[in-house]
Amino acid sequence: MTLRGRLLLAQAPLALALVLVGVVAVVTLGRVGRSGQEILQDNYRSVLAMQRMTEHLERMDSAALFIVAGERQRGEAQQAVQRPKLEAELRVQEANLTEKGEASATQRLREAWTRYVTRYDALLALSDREAAREHYFESLSPAFSEAKAAASAILDLNQDAMARKSDAQRRLSQRVNALTGVAVLAAFLVGLFASTSLTHRALRPVSVLSQAVQRIGQGDLAVRAVVEGQDEIAQLGQEFNAMAERLQRYRQSSLGELLQAQAASQAAIDSLPDPVLVFGADGALLNVNRAAEDVLRMPMGAEGDPLARAAPEVREVLERVRLHMLEGKGAYQPRGYEEAVRVSSSEGDRWLLPRGSPVYAESGEVAGATVILQDVTRLRRFDELKNDLVATVAHEFRTPLTSLRMAIHLCAEGVVGPVTEKQADLLSAAQEDCGRLQGIVDDLLDLSRIQSGQLTLNLRRVTALELVEGALGTHRVAAEDRGVRLLQEISPEAEELEVDPERVQLVLSNLVGNGVRHTPSGGEVLVRVTREGARVRFEVRDTGEGIPPEEQARIFEKFYRAPGAPAGGAGLGLSIARDIVQAHGGQLGVVSAPGQGSTFWFALPQPASSAS
Ligand code: ADP
Repeated sequence: MTLRGRLLLAQAPLALALVLVGVVAVVTLGRVGRSGQEILQDNYRSVLAMQRMTEHLERMDSAALFIVAGERQRGEAQQAVQRPKLEAELRVQEANLTEKGEASATQRLREAWTRYVTRYDALLALSDREAAREHYFESLSPAFSEAKAAASAILDLNQDAMARKSDAQRRLSQRVNALTGVAVLAAFLVGLFASTSLTHRALRPVSVLSQAVQRIGQGDLAVRAVVEGQDEIAQLGQEFNAMAERLQRYRQSSLGELLQAQAASQAAIDSLPDPVLVFGADGALLNVNRAAEDVLRMPMGAEGDPLARAAPEVREVLERVRLHMLEGKGAYQPRGYEEAVRVSSSEGDRWLLPRGSPVYAESGEVAGATVILQDVTRLRRFDELKNDLVATVAHEFRTPLTSLRMAIHLCAEGVVGPVTEKQADLLSAAQEDCGRLQGIVDDLLDLSRIQSGQLTLNLRRVTALELVEGALGTHRVAAEDRGVRLLQEISPEAEELEVDPERVQLVLSNLVGNGVRHTPSGGEVLVRVTREGARVRFEVRDTGEGIPPEEQARIFEKFYRAPGAPAGGAGLGLSIARDIVQAHGGQLGVVSAPGQGSTFWFALPQPASSAS
């Protein structure tokens, strides 16, 4: 049965009760009405007939009195009018015998009437007034009283019946009222109960379904709605069960895949020998691999923030790298091995170099960050070894080189004896090579000093002009030899600076030297100094061959020389320049393209006072 059918059926008891009550009411009211009508019809007719009969009797009596009084004509006329009327009323009464005893009373009335009429006729026959008077009082008047009394008896009989019936009627209507009330109440209660229970039964599947929906909402996908039948709700229940089935299967499969993918990625990061940390967008630590737990001694499962257990310097580095990425600055690349942080472990100290890559959400926002701490202990040891070697070599080279230069100088000057022209040429070449060697040794010494952290800046106020002149001065001869013009452009706001003049001059000199060396004859090298807010910006622009993009990152590395670069350097100049600029808290970079020349620039922060 359909739901609509059931709901209609549930209304049926109430409707039935209504019909029942209606029928009862109609029947009883009909009965009450009919008995009321009976009173009117049966008794009222008799009452009316008797009243009229009495009236006509009175008139006939007065007509008799007229005759006795000598008004014979008038009396005869009057009685002739009344007589048929009386006869008619009597017949009406004879045809309407309803009450017990009424028939005999009517019989008596007929007899009294007949007697009265007979005697009346006798009166009419008497022509003597005296005899008529006598007849009236002795014979007619008693008959009149008798007839009147008989009519009155019938009247009383009917009036009594009326009173009795009206009483019965009243009692009946009271009973009917009470009965109707009881019937209405009973019908209402039974109908209501039946309708409620039927409605409840019809709608029970809905509550079963709603409970199932609730449970699904709470995440219990195993729940099914048990709804029997073929109606709309049963169909809905079947659809619902099918949906729950599909949901459960989907969750099982996607959960399985997800767990598998998670296990795979966890295994992948666990297999890395270097610590890996994964941060969420809010900066909270989400995951670490086994190496991180071991090396940084921060087990993930333990209570509290695992980061809090890491060494302070590790925390500081992680914080910096994490912020770099979460602020949207892209992947984090360390500048060099000096950024490595030391972590002591049971196998001795380890050096970890931080690298980071942001995790992007579908919308392109940064959704998190992964930080890998690359173990560079061995590489750093090599680096230290290299630095030691550089320092030792440079130091050990200096003294012999000085005496070598001195000796060559003395020979060339002819102090130790005459020199032939050929010898002089050779000595001059040797002197030049010694000079270049001295330059390399000086670079190496600078580098080893800078690398060993001995680079203490000696800040002083100088004019930009002094610095630029000093840097250009050392390369004037070489530039003239190559046919390269040296130019300078100092903006008025950048005239006075506060820097370490010797170091900045060394940086400028390295850049200008490179420019001159890489610029063909007819080209130019321009040094510009400008002010950029709280910084002063130096630019060395040449019109040389330019640097291909893939080289640009590497040229700042120590000992790196581009393939085919002109002889003379050891690949240290730019590395030293960068270290000096960074020690000033500044930045250094290059803008270049092959065939377009190169512009090396560096910017140094300036104290506010020198801005004026
Ligand atoms: P070097 O002392 O050997 O020049 P640098 O560190 O100064 O070492 O430079 C590293 C490399 O950068 C050089 O070998 C050269 O190839 C490249 N380079 C530096 N300056 C320029 C320039 N102005 N134009 C083209 N290449 C340059």
